[in-house]
Amino acid sequence: MSKVVKFGGSSLANAEQFKKVAAIIRADESRKYVVPSAPGKRFKEDNKVTDMLYDCYDLAEAGGNFKKALQEIQGRYQEIIDGLSLEISLDEEFKIIEKKFQEKAGRDYAASRGEYLNGIVLAAYLGYEFIDAAEVIFFLDEEGNWDGDKTRNVLSERLKGCKNAVVPGFYGSLPDGRIKTFSRGGSDITGSIVAQAAGVDVYENWTDVSGFLIADPRIIDNPKGIDVITYRELRELSYMGATVLHEDSIFPVRQEGIPINIRNTNSPEDEGTWIVGSTGQKSKYVITGIAGKKGFCSVSVEKDMMNSEIGFGRRVLSAFEEQGISFEHMPSGIDTLTVFVHQDEFINKEQKVVAGIHRLVKPDAIEIESDLALIAVVGRGMKSTRGTAGRIFSALSHSNVNVKMIDQGSSELNIIIGVENADFETAIRAIYDIFVLTAI
Ligand code: ASP
Repeated sequence: MSKVVKFGGSSLANAEQFKKVAAIIRADESRKYVVPSAPGKRFKEDNKVTDMLYDCYDLAEAGGNFKKALQEIQGRYQEIIDGLSLEISLDEEFKIIEKKFQEKAGRDYAASRGEYLNGIVLAAYLGYEFIDAAEVIFFLDEEGNWDGDKTRNVLSERLKGCKNAVVPGFYGSLPDGRIKTFSRGGSDITGSIVAQAAGVDVYENWTDVSGFLIADPRIIDNPKGIDVITYRELRELSYMGATVLHEDSIFPVRQEGIPINIRNTNSPEDEGTWIVGSTGQKSKYVITGIAGKKGFCSVSVEKDMMNSEIGFGRRVLSAFEEQGISFEHMPSGIDTLTVFVHQDEFINKEQKVVAGIHRLVKPDAIEIESDLALIAVVGRGMKSTRGTAGRIFSALSHSNVNVKMIDQGSSELNIIIGVENADFETAIRAIYDIFVLTAI
């Protein structure tokens, strides 16, 4: 058995947290490779080191005096080093960073130093080998497309030679050697890449919550946790706003069928959530999770005999495409078709889109409704359970929520419901109650 363990910023925010992390790693020999984030917030109003680095670099780039800001960052690491009684010094590293900032080495270089330095400190504390991610993780281009083949070859070769190692998260290098980062939260992706290259059995992702919750705790008091979720269910929920793990971190491990276990550094005895390819294990409830977002518009197009007009849907969508707007959902009836779009993308282009639809399909009527919310009810259990949609409807009608739209995915894995923004929280509570609280 072997594992890759990734620790998020809050798990490594100070010396106390480092001690918890080391205890977790030492408690299980199979935790062979460690991927750290940069130090996160120590308390609510604190700054993440990554944000401090971005600010400091912006100052340097604008020609300002950034020395004090850089010293403050060094102070964060020194506090950790002292708290762990380590005998290392980062003075030389900070001299290089200062010089690179003066040379305007780029924002990605700047941000990446957060994980790089934390990796050095953690490796020293654990007595593990430090592997600079720039030497083993490769990008193809400035857009951040990742070079999977080269990375797999180089990284797996490198890991073969070492029993234990620390590989900092969040960055790699471009073909010309410059540093490139993933998008924010990207250490999750590094963890997944290392797990894939090392061919481990489990990718443990340690954070400050005990896994995924069925619904947003800001809406539901004390929601129940999710024990097991499939990659596909997770995709649906993340897309609709559930955040714990970076969305893209699923792909490398998914190819190899390596499960991800989300764990809580501050409560290591909790089993957390298992994210798996497929499972015969029934979910505890018919639904696995509920997530949603506010701020959508619906554009309903009505035309008699629309169904017999070949290419009608495509032409309607091209009116959105012409304006660079992507659509979220498109439920249709016999003589109507509705397109859901993000309100902030749509609002300034509304008249152009409407003109486009008139030109392209000559509709009988177009109706626009704004301030809508979409809610995704996701669960592999829905396929084998009758009456799920019916239960959702009756729960919503009991709570006086007017359902604007319902769209069941063809995989029977999710049901998307459109409601008014104002009904969003009530709707989520009603669905949670019927499937979880009063579940039989
Ligand atoms: N430190 C980076 C961030 O704050 C990456 C990460 O933590 O995963 O986004």
